[in-house]
Amino acid sequence: MKKTSNFQSYFLILLMLYGSAFAQGTKKRPPIIDVHVHAMKANPNFANDLCPWFLKNMPGGDPKQPAPSFLNGDCPDPLKAAKSDKEMQDALLGTAERLNVIMVASGDAEILHKWHKAAPNRIIPSLGVSSGKEMTVKAFEDSLSGGFYKVMGEVAPQYQGMSPSDMTLDEYFGVAEKLGVPVGIHMGTGGNGMANITSPKYRASLGRPFLLEDMLARHPKLKIWVMHAGYPMIDEMIALMGANAYVYVDLAGFIWSYPLEEVHAYMKRLIQAGFGKRIMYGTDLMVWPKLLETSIGVIESANYLSEDQKRDIFFNNAVRFFNLDESKFK
Ligand SMILES: [Zn+2]
Repeated sequence: MKKTSNFQSYFLILLMLYGSAFAQGTKKRPPIIDVHVHAMKANPNFANDLCPWFLKNMPGGDPKQPAPSFLNGDCPDPLKAAKSDKEMQDALLGTAERLNVIMVASGDAEILHKWHKAAPNRIIPSLGVSSGKEMTVKAFEDSLSGGFYKVMGEVAPQYQGMSPSDMTLDEYFGVAEKLGVPVGIHMGTGGNGMANITSPKYRASLGRPFLLEDMLARHPKLKIWVMHAGYPMIDEMIALMGANAYVYVDLAGFIWSYPLEEVHAYMKRLIQAGFGKRIMYGTDLMVWPKLLETSIGVIESANYLSEDQKRDIFFNNAVRFFNLDESKFK
């Protein structure tokens, strides 16, 4: 424990020195790419404050009682949820500017267009389709060819009780493969008690990374990243990445919800297995602008990562994966 707290204070001092240099405008912060951001309309039913790493204990409850809460805001200093679209946009883009963050964002098209208009250099728009009922293949291809969207995601068939290799999605992946558009697919953890709350069709077993294999075999030129790094199925994740050289992962969601020790154990295992060049930083940011800082801190404070490995996770791996022009961000 002692070692950790020494490290933490060392890190804080470092951060303060860094902060003052950047605040004085002497140096621009090195760029960070967050590959997993959700653009959402403000919704009073989803405007709860958030305590990071809140899944420390997951009480059993009882089916006769109300369903467990998806989030927990019961801590001394929770992250505040934005209460309006404008508040969210201003806070998010302000923070992104200050911390030099570029975001791959998907979700509500109107919000996404507003963010992109306000900060075209900070937003990389992404188009998600999780079932054939949402949009026709033709409409999807037209949208992806239109120039606004650069990425396909978040594709999340798991919430609908479907495997990512389900044939009803196959033509959509075919379009992304043909156009050379990278795809982000939700695999693994999807929120505590999800099957009891909003997604009765959600199946933990449909987050198994191996379920991607048939689809990848049908689309050998498709470039995908596994969102949430298939948490907690680390062995399948490592085996899948070993067998498929173009599969990357992001760290979104689990890095701020599960206990920190567990988060670090998972990331460390990916690194130990040799995949430091295939991990991308991501948050799964929804309505809490401060989550950017909270999640960056997790990587910054990982004492098992070298500075080069941190830069790979924050930036270099995403530049390579998305074929970005890195000179634009310097
Ligand atoms: Zn997800």
